[in-house]
Amino acid sequence: DRYAAEFAGSKQRFETAKGVFPTGVTHDARMMDPFPVYVARAKGAHKWDVDGHELVDYFVGHGSHLLGHCPDDVVLAVQEQMNRGTHPGACHEAEIEWGQLVRKLIPSAERVRFTGSGTEATMMALRLSRLYTGRGKFLKFQGHFHGWHDYVTVSADYPYDTASVPGVPADVAAHCVAVPPNDLNRVEAALKADSDIGAVILEPTGGHWGAVPIRGEFLKGLRELCTRHDRLLIFDEVITGFRVSPGGAQAFYGVTPDLTAMAKILAGGLPGGCVGGRADVLAFIEPRPGKPKMKHPGTYNANPLSAAAGVATLTRVATGEPCDRANRAAARLRNKLNELFAARDWSWVAYGDFSMVRVASGYRGERPGTAAGVNDGFVPFGGDVNALDGPKNMKQYYALRQAMLLHGVDWWGFAGMTSAEHTDAVIDHTVTAFEASLEALAAEGLA
Ligand code: PMP
Repeated sequence: DRYAAEFAGSKQRFETAKGVFPTGVTHDARMMDPFPVYVARAKGAHKWDVDGHELVDYFVGHGSHLLGHCPDDVVLAVQEQMNRGTHPGACHEAEIEWGQLVRKLIPSAERVRFTGSGTEATMMALRLSRLYTGRGKFLKFQGHFHGWHDYVTVSADYPYDTASVPGVPADVAAHCVAVPPNDLNRVEAALKADSDIGAVILEPTGGHWGAVPIRGEFLKGLRELCTRHDRLLIFDEVITGFRVSPGGAQAFYGVTPDLTAMAKILAGGLPGGCVGGRADVLAFIEPRPGKPKMKHPGTYNANPLSAAAGVATLTRVATGEPCDRANRAAARLRNKLNELFAARDWSWVAYGDFSMVRVASGYRGERPGTAAGVNDGFVPFGGDVNALDGPKNMKQYYALRQAMLLHGVDWWGFAGMTSAEHTDAVIDHTVTAFEASLEALAAEGLA
């Protein structure tokens, strides 16, 4: 078919990769039926595959590239650090500057500890919460993703209510209580019913960065409940940190969690994460008389290359301009897609907040108006996680990705994120690609 012919170089690489990796890919979300695209290089809002196609990118490094791919200042900072050494196995100055930038930008970050990834950051936040509260369990929300360690894999993906997670011991999974998002009564009932719940963790704009969006009122309500019932509130700002605003969702909504997990933009496209939070909670990393000390080694904690990229990136984030530009690009995309869907009478809706865009099919309700801003308050399907057919409909997901690739856009199936380099022209090209792609899907009965 046309995809196999046009992306023949990728097809050939995938054949080889299948003999090396289970499934042929190295991250579940990079899977693509019949084969994924192999990328040779990237710059700004674009990437180029091994067959030479120029593709508009909506993966943006799984969310790490707020500044677009390969910003000159970040590349230079990493190259300079490279020449000074990739890993002294010692304390170094850049880690201090990096940590100070996090403290300056993120309201909850009285103290900071760097980790190797976002997964490690949520694992650390939960362990700290156990030490601080003396309670072993935590509460999360159905469909919220916090990385792949044992505790948080429960109820992260469809079907959200599962209690059995392959490979996770049942007694570990039992430490997680999962409730539907946006229902404060359910949260309060769970906290009252189980005094062993020590923390509440969530993605502050909604699971998988907003499949079911969360509103600021809910965050305020959670803050109030956690304070009243004496539990810790943990924001997982691995995606939203430095993206929705320089100070993350917590600065935008004015709700300060006790602990915050960060990664991605934090390290400017290189590996790295951190926990920022209350000094008296992070104090459990310090040896103190009469208090337990949480062990925390980690070869790549505050790696100097990541620190150099992080400092260069956060210095620019601090101006506010990258977030504004990315937010405006995404708002333009949402608005233009909804205009298109309405004009063609297609049962699709585009929604999302800030620089995050989602699309869903099977939608016949009101769409957010074209006047909608970066944070329009729109929650589709009555906020029911199970009403979203996206996660269930992989055939449509792959068909849309494939059609978009054939029109020069690497669109993340039912979602995408913008960077500060997604110009009006890039967005308008994307809308044209969407129109052609949905026509192709309709012809196959998949729209
Ligand atoms: N939390 C959230 C909200 C994420 O989106 C991710 C990664 N997509 C993680 C945690 C895990 O981060 P990492 O992939 O760096 O382990």
